[in-house]
Amino acid sequence: MNAQPHGQRHSYSTDMLFPKKSKRLYSELMLDSSAARELMVETQLRARGISDPRVLAAMSRVPRDQFVSESFRAEAYEDHPLPIGEAQTISQPYIVAVMLESLCLMPQDKVLEIGTGSGYATALLAELSAQVFSIERHPALAEVARQKLAELGYTNVKVFTGDGSLGLPSAAPFNAILVSAAAPGIPVPLLAQLADGGRMIIPVGREDAQQLQFVRMVNGQPVVSPGELVRFVPLVPSSSE
Ligand code: SAH
Repeated sequence: MNAQPHGQRHSYSTDMLFPKKSKRLYSELMLDSSAARELMVETQLRARGISDPRVLAAMSRVPRDQFVSESFRAEAYEDHPLPIGEAQTISQPYIVAVMLESLCLMPQDKVLEIGTGSGYATALLAELSAQVFSIERHPALAEVARQKLAELGYTNVKVFTGDGSLGLPSAAPFNAILVSAAAPGIPVPLLAQLADGGRMIIPVGREDAQQLQFVRMVNGQPVVSPGELVRFVPLVPSSSE
C-alpha cells in the first residue's frame, strides 16, 4: 500500500469523491483563485460537515495558492497535501478545517501554532483570532512564511524559529494551541501553557499512523477527546539534533 501523505484522512479515496474531471476544473478555475476557493469550501469542507461560518469564511478568503511554490499553484485547491520544501508539506484543506473548527476560536483569542510550515494555517489563525505566535524549527521555512504573511498584510502574527514542543513560555498562557506535526504524546510544556478553558488540537501517535487529539483545560486538568485518523510529519524535538 502506498504511504498516506501528511494530513490525509485514511478513510476514503479522494478519487471516489473527486473524480479526475474536477481536477481539470480546479486548474481552469485557478484563473480566478477565489472561485477555486469557493469550490474547495463547498465540496471539500461544507459537504463533509465543516459548519463553523467563521472557519468557512476564513478558508474562502485566505489564498492557499500563495503559500505553495509556483510549480504547485495549479493544485493549491485540490483535496490533498502538497510539498513545501525541506521534506515538509502543507496539510490537506479538510484537515486544516477540522483542526480549526475544533478550536472554537474567538476574535479576542491568543493562539500558539507549532509547525508554521508554509504559513497557510498561520494566516487562517490570524483571521480567526487576535494574536498568533507560531514556531517553526526550519529557519528557511520560517523566513519564507514570515515574508509571505507580511506581504499579505497579517500584522497580528509573530513567527519564531525553534523547538515548538517547548512552547513559548514568554507569551503564555494561550487560549488555543494548534500543533501541525505529530508527537508520540502530548508535550507537557504545551499543556502547561494552555489557559483555563483553553483548547489544543494535536496529532498523536506513531510515525505512520496518528489520531487527532482534542484537549480542553478544565479547572487546571486536561480533558482529552480523540478525533480523526491522520498522518502528519513528525514533531522533531531539539534534543534529537
Ligand atoms: N501548518 C503547516 C504545515 C506544516 S508541516 C502549513 O500550513 O503549511 C509541519 C511543520 O512542523 C514542518 O514545517 C516542520 O518543519 C515543523 N516542525 C517539526 N518539528 C517541529 C518542532 N519541534 N518545532 C517547530 N516546528 C516543527
